[in-house]
Amino acid sequence: MMDTLIQFDNTYARELEGMYVPWQPTPVPSPKLLRLNTDLGIQLGLPIEILNGPAGSAFLSGNETLVGATPIAQVYAGHQFGHFAPRLGDGRALLLGEVVDKDGLRRDLALKGSGPTPFSRGGDGKAAVGPVLREYLIGEFMHAMGIPTTRALAAVWTGESVFRERPLPGAVLTRVAASHLRIGTVEFFAAREEPHQVQRLVDYAIRRHDPQLADHPHRYQEWFRAVADRQASLVAHWMLVGFIHGVMNTDNTTISGETIDYGPCAFMEAYDPHAVFSSIDTQGRYAYHNQPHIIRWNLARLAGAIAPVMTNGSRESKVAPFLEILETFPARYYDYWLAGIRKKLGLATTEEGDDVLANEWLALLHARGADYTLAWRYLVDAAEGNDRPLQAVFREPSALAMWLRQWRMRLDRESLKTEARAAAMRRVNPLYIPRNHRVEEALAAATDNTDLAPFERLLKAVTRPFDEDPELDAYATPAPAEVTACYQTFCGT
Ligand code: AMP
Ligand code: MG
Repeated sequence: MMDTLIQFDNTYARELEGMYVPWQPTPVPSPKLLRLNTDLGIQLGLPIEILNGPAGSAFLSGNETLVGATPIAQVYAGHQFGHFAPRLGDGRALLLGEVVDKDGLRRDLALKGSGPTPFSRGGDGKAAVGPVLREYLIGEFMHAMGIPTTRALAAVWTGESVFRERPLPGAVLTRVAASHLRIGTVEFFAAREEPHQVQRLVDYAIRRHDPQLADHPHRYQEWFRAVADRQASLVAHWMLVGFIHGVMNTDNTTISGETIDYGPCAFMEAYDPHAVFSSIDTQGRYAYHNQPHIIRWNLARLAGAIAPVMTNGSRESKVAPFLEILETFPARYYDYWLAGIRKKLGLATTEEGDDVLANEWLALLHARGADYTLAWRYLVDAAEGNDRPLQAVFREPSALAMWLRQWRMRLDRESLKTEARAAAMRRVNPLYIPRNHRVEEALAAATDNTDLAPFERLLKAVTRPFDEDPELDAYATPAPAEVTACYQTFCGT
């Protein structure tokens, strides 16, 4: 045990006995810090200097347990590609404990890749450096975009190989999350027909994420409404930035509304609603355009898990409020999406027909195979009167000219000055995203040559996604179409 470097306060371990297994990380041969997220560490009030030294690597690899940490493997279930798996749980992760950050927000600190647990089901419990860095990169980009997400505090080399199709350098990620409560956590106890446990768990979730509802006469349905609302907002963010999660199973859907699990995720290049990159998603269940439907399906699983046990009265009266929330979900989602797309279009006011304008723009991007990110970014130049960059991403600009006329007529009905509008648009339309080929390039350099330079460069670009930097030009450019056409992601284990 190491000294009290971190002030833990572990409510999950304390209040939810029976919902986890106390467990210890598997020691690794020679831990070496790969990257520390200093800003996040400071936000969490952690001792940065110590984390940067050997004691830090020992802690961040799981080789040493800090005083106050209570490492546990959490149990959960989940619907995976539509099929229920009654027992998943942390098979390669451990929750070390919770810390309260500088703003008073409680955060989980968890290791990922820290060795097998009782939930590993034959897996090795380890992580390769590639998937660890992918999670680091994309989480930081999401955060920079203002999209709720779990984040990486650190990545550590373990000094041992993990065996996938070939031996790969092993690594451990330290993940920071508002909590690791998932829809699948509730499903686990619901499937076992343990209503008392479901109730304990949801009461805990309410205390943690929605404390204002604790005394509400209908707290469970209002809690469900809050969870649904956070997910509506989250998935709208994903759609607006062109993010395809890739594995939206209910065990990868958080109660907090944070994005979690960056296994097979990818970003859209040429706009295509049917885009899907995950090698295991052969049916396109988790394709880009399906994400709003899937999240509602996942929320229906949560409703199914809590509705029967939470309220008194007839079956109909128990279920009705949940059905109402699910039925109005698409409109709720659409409102978030429309508000976001108005900003991307440079609109400060709302008018009927804005959704038509937005959808015609997207249809145009689709028809012309235009790069999603650049088209939006160059729309800012168009707002300033320079159409040329935008024309260049459309192979055939005449349809574009017609749409631009409509858009400008709409802009003219607002009093916003061009400069202010362009500045606002540049704050919501990123120039740099973690383009798939750049992510792969960074991961390959780290994996094959322990070369972190490409990772660091890409991280720099995507953590300041709105600020043009001539040195980072290469990160704004799409992959060649042939590369994107063949691009596949794999569930990162
Ligand atoms: P994920 O694909 O990360 O959402 O994981 C789904 C389930 O598989 C979870 O219960 C994980 O803990 C488990 N799992 C994934 N990879 C491994 C691994 N390498 N070893 C043990 N369990 C794993
Ligand atoms: Mg997962």
